[in-house]
Amino acid sequence: MGRKKRPGFADLQATRAALARGEIRCPECNRPVTGEDTLKFVSALGESEPSLATLTCARCRTMLSIRFVAGEPTG
Ligand SMILES: [Zn+2]
Repeated sequence: MGRKKRPGFADLQATRAALARGEIRCPECNRPVTGEDTLKFVSALGESEPSLATLTCARCRTMLSIRFVAGEPTG
């Protein structure tokens, strides 16, 4: 049985601060997502700023969807 390796998909949740700090990593190959990656922001209707970004991992070609969540709750 030869199962062909194909690019996969991964859904992530992160804060924008985590992205800015380079803390988001591809779950397949552990490559950090950096500012050099081309993130495609998707904004939903009625939202003032995009809450979702997609990119393709430059190393393993996995399609990553990053859903931005609010920062860590304070207090
Ligand atoms: Zn990867």
